[in-house]
Amino acid sequence: MNKFYITTAIDYVNDTIHVGHAFQKIAADVLARYYRTKLGKENVFFLTGTDEYGQKAEKAAKEAGLDTQAFADKIAKTDQRQQDSLNISYDRFIRTTDPDHLKVAQEIWKRVNKSGDIYLDRYTGLYCEGCEAYYTEKELVKGRCPLHPNLVIKKISEENYFFRWSKYKDFLIGHIKNNPEFIFPRHRANEMLSFAKEINDIPISRTNFSWGIPVPGDPDQVIYVWFDALINYLTGVGFLENNKFFAKFWPADVHILGKDNLRWHSLLWPAMLRSAGIEPPKTILVNGFLTLNGEKISKSLGNIIRPSDWVDKYGADALRYYLLRYTVLTEDSDISEEKLVQAYNGDLANGLGNLVARVAKLCETARFRQTSTRKSGHIIMEKKRYDRLISEYKFNETLSLVWEKITNLDRYINEEKPWELLKLPEGDKKLQNIESVLAHAVEQIQEIAILIIPFMPDTAEIIKNQFEAPEIISGKPLFPRII
Ligand SMILES: [Zn+2]
Repeated sequence: MNKFYITTAIDYVNDTIHVGHAFQKIAADVLARYYRTKLGKENVFFLTGTDEYGQKAEKAAKEAGLDTQAFADKIAKTDQRQQDSLNISYDRFIRTTDPDHLKVAQEIWKRVNKSGDIYLDRYTGLYCEGCEAYYTEKELVKGRCPLHPNLVIKKISEENYFFRWSKYKDFLIGHIKNNPEFIFPRHRANEMLSFAKEINDIPISRTNFSWGIPVPGDPDQVIYVWFDALINYLTGVGFLENNKFFAKFWPADVHILGKDNLRWHSLLWPAMLRSAGIEPPKTILVNGFLTLNGEKISKSLGNIIRPSDWVDKYGADALRYYLLRYTVLTEDSDISEEKLVQAYNGDLANGLGNLVARVAKLCETARFRQTSTRKSGHIIMEKKRYDRLISEYKFNETLSLVWEKITNLDRYINEEKPWELLKLPEGDKKLQNIESVLAHAVEQIQEIAILIIPFMPDTAEIIKNQFEAPEIISGKPLFPRII
């Protein structure tokens, strides 16, 4: 691999993102930061943003008493601010209302049309405005969308443009079967294979509202929001605008998204790309959902936590750490503020923070001096396992590995008791012993700082600066205890 292109789901602008959405952005950020250290900054591209068209956005704007564009502007800004509060290092925050995206979406439409895959017909059936998606009777649960049991499902009948999705059935089945890395985790692929067998053509335009990208050649219709939204991954890396850049980064290496979006990404998206003559993405990584204190995070339950609510109290790195260490990325997990505080005090204040403070203080007391030879590249023993765990998206286990290192170093210091060595009468032996114990401790802390770069970037930077200085002195506590 010599480049890495990662995207997240782009969020609907009906509301600002909450901590559940943030989980996915943090995971994507870990991968982006990891590959930047491995491949160089210029060889990584990280795309996130907002999905702004569709009926849901239009409705939310109306309820807020705002013009739809003004409403979208407002939510896009707050979403971006939420991501910034977590130090999400995206290279572009794309909005589907961006002018370059309009051009790309229309261009893809034209290409798909040229392949003979678009035709006009009447759609009469069910539509969930929550999902912005078509449903069949048998997919409903008690007459409602399984993902939106609070919404009444709409019956619509519209003259729409259809995409010849069924034409790609065999291609999709073959692609999923022949590319074991295409859907991760793999068990989700079976689910998609059974969906693939039942693919029918779907409408890819809407007529009874206007908040969307106009269909080329038919301004009475707008492009169906999913068809338009998926194309953002092409726009993001300069499709049409910058051929060289696009050729460098496409196909995307990882699209990370929630399980509710898997069907569109693994079945509709590759079919659209195939029709337009573009290579499919390499891996679709499915993240699980978070619940808060055992409940779904939702407006109607009134339990929405914005990332910045917790960042303001505990810091971005603490929240990132908690969400990555105490969940399994690809499975559903339950989170709570109580458990966040426990992780903060236990692992960060008493663990990493205490270790760093302890070693810095010893270095200061012993007047330990760094030598240049000591700084130069040694091999991090755990690096191979660490790399493998990240490549398998096991971020919780990666952090466990780093925390093993923290525990080991703590134990080493307890056994070597450098504070007792400090009490010995002055002489060469005293100096040698202290030097070697501290040199080892400092080296280990420098390694820990390197290993936490993708997970806790600010903390990594602080530790690095403190322990690479010629003279190591005590700093402010990294994680003051929360009482
Ligand atoms: Zn729904």
